[in-house]
Amino acid sequence: MFEKLSIFAAFLAILMPFTQSKAEQLNLQEVAPGVFVHQGIHAMPNRQNHGEIANIGFIVGEQCVAVIDTGGSPAQGRALDAAITEKTKVPVCYVINTHVHPDHLYGNSAFKRAGVSFIGHRKLAQAMAVRAPYYLEKAGRDLGLGLKQEDFIAPDRTVDSTLELDLGGRKLTLTAHGPAHTDNDLTVFDDKTRTLWLSDLLFIGHLPVIDGSLTGWLRELSKLTKIDAKLAIPGHGPVSSEWPKAAEAETRYLEMLRSEIRAYIKQGKTMEQAMAEVGQSARGDWQLFDDFHKRNIATSFAELEWED
Ligand SMILES: [Zn+2]
Repeated sequence: MFEKLSIFAAFLAILMPFTQSKAEQLNLQEVAPGVFVHQGIHAMPNRQNHGEIANIGFIVGEQCVAVIDTGGSPAQGRALDAAITEKTKVPVCYVINTHVHPDHLYGNSAFKRAGVSFIGHRKLAQAMAVRAPYYLEKAGRDLGLGLKQEDFIAPDRTVDSTLELDLGGRKLTLTAHGPAHTDNDLTVFDDKTRTLWLSDLLFIGHLPVIDGSLTGWLRELSKLTKIDAKLAIPGHGPVSSEWPKAAEAETRYLEMLRSEIRAYIKQGKTMEQAMAEVGQSARGDWQLFDDFHKRNIATSFAELEWED
């Protein structure tokens, strides 16, 4: 009997490191009951991290699971799928893609199976189609990922303004936003824990990246910060229990860009001058500042130039 037990224990001891390492690899945290988040690292996507840099995760209901973003590579999507199976017996029924950026949706193919519905902003499918050729080439060159067109799984259900999903005893409200971080941003609100999953509408620590509209983003933030949320989950950075305070640094950065660039345009200065000078004092406040700040100025300058 003891012998059998010790053989069993030895067998478990052999297995344990494997099961644990898988969970550790994904570094999953249950930030509220049934709300699991893997926090990405602040880094540029590269061959070492394979673009696995974004916050991704899932919410568990009584009947099924909603995945919120699938990760930066098919392998990360599979690791997320495996982690879900370790945490719950209920199946995945929804994959919510918060926006078109690769670090959030290259894991999609891991979830393509019967019973899983892919959900995105009404503009997501088009953004995917337009960017796919460029993204595919970039994935091979910069990330060492051999992706195919089929890895971009377009939503089979789209969100026009809001959409409610029932996971069984748990209601999620999805909101489609106007142009902000991108032109296809979705946020998710979990009623049960008052968790607001903002994805890349909220950056903490990592410099906000503007790929949609600076003024639009500030407009969406003014609405989002009115939501009575207990927990805010950014697309990059740590989960915060202080909402709307968690959006203050980002709002300050975006407002600074808007006012300084407007002043440059008014004075007849060029985009190049703006790119060299605007917002340099914010450098110490953010990680990846030098990777994205100039690009943010260029995008915003082009947008604000055409303001009335
Ligand atoms: Zn993004």
